[in-house]
Amino acid sequence: MTAFDYDLFVIGAGSGGVRAARIAASHGAKVAIAEEYRVGGTCVIRGCVPKKLLVYASHFGEAFEDAVAYGWTTHGVSFDWATLIANKDKEIDRLSGIYVRNLEASGVDIFYSRAELRDAHAVHLIAEDRHIRARHVLIATGGRPYVDEALPGIEHVITSNEAFHLDRLPRRIVVAGGGYIAVEFACIFHALGAETTLLYRGEQILRGFDDDIRNHLASEMRRKGIDVICGQVFSAIEETADGLKGTLTGGDTIEVDRIMFAVGRRPHTSGLGLEHAGVEVDGNGAVKVDAWSKTNIDHIYAVGDVTDRVNLTPVAIREGHAFADTVFGERPTAVDHKMIASAVFAQPEVGTVGLTEAEAREGGRRIDIYKSFFRPMKHTLSGRDEKTMMKLVVDAETDKVLGCHIVGPDAGEMAQLVGISLKMGATKADFDATVAVHPTAAEELVTMRQKWKGGS
Ligand SMILES: Cc1cc2nc3c(=O)[nH]c(=O)nc-3n(C[C@H](O)[C@H](O)[C@H](O)COP(=O)(O)OP(=O)(O)OC[C@H]3O[C@@H](n4cnc5c(N)ncnc54)[C@H](O)[C@@H]3O)c2cc1C
Repeated sequence: MTAFDYDLFVIGAGSGGVRAARIAASHGAKVAIAEEYRVGGTCVIRGCVPKKLLVYASHFGEAFEDAVAYGWTTHGVSFDWATLIANKDKEIDRLSGIYVRNLEASGVDIFYSRAELRDAHAVHLIAEDRHIRARHVLIATGGRPYVDEALPGIEHVITSNEAFHLDRLPRRIVVAGGGYIAVEFACIFHALGAETTLLYRGEQILRGFDDDIRNHLASEMRRKGIDVICGQVFSAIEETADGLKGTLTGGDTIEVDRIMFAVGRRPHTSGLGLEHAGVEVDGNGAVKVDAWSKTNIDHIYAVGDVTDRVNLTPVAIREGHAFADTVFGERPTAVDHKMIASAVFAQPEVGTVGLTEAEAREGGRRIDIYKSFFRPMKHTLSGRDEKTMMKLVVDAETDKVLGCHIVGPDAGEMAQLVGISLKMGATKADFDATVAVHPTAAEELVTMRQKWKGGS
């Protein structure tokens, strides 16, 4: 024991690292954590939390329009980006402070420095030029935005990191990418008033999601006025007197003020010194781990986005907690990565849990589909032309609900709750036996009687 400064050294104070550090300390371990940017990590500083605050801001535009039919007078409303960003920054400072205080209260030593491995037990703190020896090391360095460095003009683009700090709302923007971050930012910028294009390489946005979600959301986004272009990417970007000009692979050009790349994220492992410790990574740079988040080196573990399993905050937290229980709590715990509900905070919102229809059909399984498209009650008065979509994917033999997919207001909230029943193995008969909450949109989930026969 005396040969080591700490029982555990955590590299990265994000969602996974902070949870792991606090739980390990609560089990009696002597713990240190290093953070090179800001305590709280991606989720708190430049991910989920600031994004959701921008999403809230972006909802007000339509709410003011819809309010008129409900008797409100809304003349003269206006939006100020600088106020939003300043208030968002204040909240992020507050949250980061809470993370620091929680770590300190747990007895964890915090080093505000980049940390790199020098051998399997030695961590080097760059800011202090100091070596620390730890019995166990946890790699929790997360991920970072990927950009194609070979693209001419790539130096002109921003990523989600910079999008949170723009000095003004762009008048015209292209968001490149088709994943949930790209889709969310396109909806945010559009709803706040920017002329917005979403440019995606594939044939439909949100690859990996149920096809009905993908098609329904894309058509709702187009209906709202977002120019969703699929099947093309930028071949070059150049600066003009007026902003930026992007040339597409199809030959067209787009002139805008900003171009944001949200074309994927990569595990944050470059320069980390993993090779000095002998830790194996995959072709993408993700740290390879087993079900207990252990790397190929017995006392080195990795959790969260750096392992590229399911890259979501609650998953990183769960993996960090399970690691601490396994190594310091005498309670070996493997994280179950199945049936994880998630949301896309687009407009309208997406909530999803379980298998897509395509996944459920794999291997020839017989499937029943229940689907409903309807206008949310709120829009009967507002007149807004927006439809909610709900879908259940059911195993025809066992009657188990294998997947639930929703596009519509509060879909993320619904997915969280439906997720419990799906995790418990609920059948369609269980859904049918559940009395509706009326009048809600969610009641549709327990009142769908007819199997879907095709078309949408
Ligand atoms: C724009 C955006 C929106 C998102 N929205 C959602 C959402 O709505 N819901 C959701 O569940 N997830 C969301 N995510 C994903 C979520 O943020 C991540 O899954 C989560 O933060 C992963 O946690 P982590 O602990 O693995 O890594 P991180 O939270 O990224 O933390 C890693 C930390 O390590 C630090 N670090 C890296 N290298 C070193 C080093 N060598 N030395 C010291 N420190 C280092 C980094 O600075 C960082 O603070 C979003 C992500 C982005 C980018």
